[in-house]
Amino acid sequence: MHDQPRPCLRLILGDQLNPLHSWFQAPRPDVIYLLMEVRSETDYVLHHAQKVLGIFAAMRDFAQQLKANGHRVRYVSIDQASNRQDIVANLEALVTHYEASSVEYQAPDEWRLDQALRDWSQTSSVAVNMVDSEHFLTRRDEAQQIFLGKKQWLMEHFYRHQRRRHQILLTPDGKPEGGQWNFDADNRKPWPGQPAEPADMRPCHDHSELWRVIESAGVKTIGDSQATAFRWPLNRAEALQQLDHFIAWGLPHFGDYQDALSEHSWRLFHSLLSFALNTKMLNPHEVVIRAQTAWREGHAPLHAAEGFIRQVLGWREYVRGMYWAQMPAYTRTNQLAHTRALPDWFWNGQTHMACVASALKQSLTQGYAHHIQRLMVTGNFALLAGLDPAQLHRWYLGIYVDAFEWVEAPNTLGMSQWADGGLLATKPYVSSAAYIHRMGDHCKNCRYDHKARTSDNACPFNALYWDFFDRHRTQFETNPRLGVVYHQLKRMPEKTLQELKSFSARTLSNLENL
Ligand code: FAD
Ligand code: SF4
Repeated sequence: MHDQPRPCLRLILGDQLNPLHSWFQAPRPDVIYLLMEVRSETDYVLHHAQKVLGIFAAMRDFAQQLKANGHRVRYVSIDQASNRQDIVANLEALVTHYEASSVEYQAPDEWRLDQALRDWSQTSSVAVNMVDSEHFLTRRDEAQQIFLGKKQWLMEHFYRHQRRRHQILLTPDGKPEGGQWNFDADNRKPWPGQPAEPADMRPCHDHSELWRVIESAGVKTIGDSQATAFRWPLNRAEALQQLDHFIAWGLPHFGDYQDALSEHSWRLFHSLLSFALNTKMLNPHEVVIRAQTAWREGHAPLHAAEGFIRQVLGWREYVRGMYWAQMPAYTRTNQLAHTRALPDWFWNGQTHMACVASALKQSLTQGYAHHIQRLMVTGNFALLAGLDPAQLHRWYLGIYVDAFEWVEAPNTLGMSQWADGGLLATKPYVSSAAYIHRMGDHCKNCRYDHKARTSDNACPFNALYWDFFDRHRTQFETNPRLGVVYHQLKRMPEKTLQELKSFSARTLSNLENL
C-alpha cells in the first residue's frame, strides 16, 4: 500500500529549458521532473565541445532553479553509476524506482527522439503522454497544411501568413509596414569596418569542473571547449540580457550587414541568440516583439527589424515545418548524387582558402558561424565540390552550438545543398569568388586570386562554379531563376568551358591540399 500517491514523472530534454512552461507554474508533490545527461545524446554525432558543455551546464542550472522553486527533481548526471546512458532505458528504470503512475514529456523537436518516445509509449507498463513544448509559433504540421495541394512551398507565402496571423509589422488596416513585406534587397551591404561590431557582452562562466566530468566520462568532442571562459548563456536570465544587448547594439545595423563577411569580425551584427532560442530559454514570440518594438520606438530602422523578424517568424518556423513534413526520408536525400568525402580541413581549418579557413577556424573555436559563413562559404564550397550531403549534414549537426536536427537538416540539406531537389530553396545557393569578394574582405589576404579562373593561383570557387552548372544542366537549365547563368554558359566558348572543367577536375583531385 502507498501512503503517498504514485508520482508522475515528467521528462525535460536538454533543449527544453523553458522555465515559463505551464508545467512549472506551481510545485506539485506528485510530480518528479527528470533531467538526464546520456551518452546516446552526446554520441549520435561528433559534437562541438561547447555544445555538450553548454547544454549540460544549462540543464544543471535549470534543475537547480526548479529545486529552488520547490519542485521535486531527479538529475541523472553523465558519470552516475546507475545511468543507463539512454533516455528510454533510464525512464524504464526510474518508473520502477519511483513506482511511477505515469510519464509525461514535452513534444521533442527531433524525429529520432520523437520516435523513440512514441515507440516506448506503446510498450511501457505505465501511461505515457506527450504535451506541447509551448515554444513554437506554429504546429508541427502547420506549414504542410498551408501548402497542401501546392506544387511548391514558398517561404515568402508562409512568412506573410505568419505576419498576418501574429499581427507583426502591420498597419492598422492590415498592410505591411513600409509598403512592402520584405526588405531583403536592403540587407546586402558589405561591412566597411564601421560602425564597430557590438562588444561581446555575453556572460563568462568557468565550467572547467563540469568539463572534467564530461571528459572523464569518455565523451568525444571537437573544437575548443573554452571551459574556463564559457560564453553561451546558462539560463533564461542570461539569455534575456543577451537579447537586450542585441536589441540595443546589434539590431540597428542587422539589416545593413546581414549578408556581410569579414575577417575582422566573427559575429558582425548577428544576435548569437540561436543557442538560447533552440534550448527554449527564449521564446520566439518575445524575440519578435522586442524587434518590432525597437522599430516602433525609432530605435532600429524598418529594414533591420523586418530582416531580423523574417528569420525568426519566417525561416525558423518554415524549416521546422519542412522537417516534420519530410522526415524520416529527408536526412537521406541526395538529389544531385554527390558522394565526395569531406576533406580533413573541415575538422582543423587548415586550408589556404582564406574565407573557408576563417569560417572553419572560428567554428572550431566558437562553436558558431553566422548564416552567410554557413551558407555562402562552407556550404557553397561543399555544394560546388559535390561533397556528400549526408556527411556534411553530420558535420553541421555536430559543430554548431545551436545545431538541432529540426533546424539544421533543412538548412543544410535543403537550403544549402539542394539535396532535397529544391523543396526548400528555389535555386541552389552557390557563387563564384565574385560574391565572396563583394560581400567581404577575405580575398585581400588569400593565397588565391579571386579574379583568376584557371591560372595556378586561381580561386577554386570560380572553375568549380561553372563546372557545377555545366554538369547539372538537367536539373537547373530550365530554372527561370538561373536564366542568366545558363545564358552566360551558352555564350561561353567551348574551349573556355573545357579549360574551366579541367581546372575544376584538378581542383577536386587535390581537395585536401587547397
Ligand atoms: P541571427 O542572424 O541573429 O538570426 C536571428 C535568429 O533567426 C537566429 O538565432 C535563428 O533562430 C533564426 N534564423 C536565422 N536564419 C535562420 C534559418 N535559415 N533557419 C532557421 N532559423 C534561422 N540555425 C540553427 O538554429 N541551428 C542550426 O543547426 C543551423 N544550421 C544551419 C546550417 C546551414 C548550412 C545554414 C545555411 C544555416 C543554418 N542555420 C541553423 C540557420 C542560421 O545560420 C543560424 O540560425 C544563425 O546563424 C544563428 O546565429 P544567430 O543567432 O546569430 O542568428
Ligand atoms: Fe575565398 Fe577565393 Fe576569395 Fe580566397 S580568393 S578568400 S578562396 S573567394
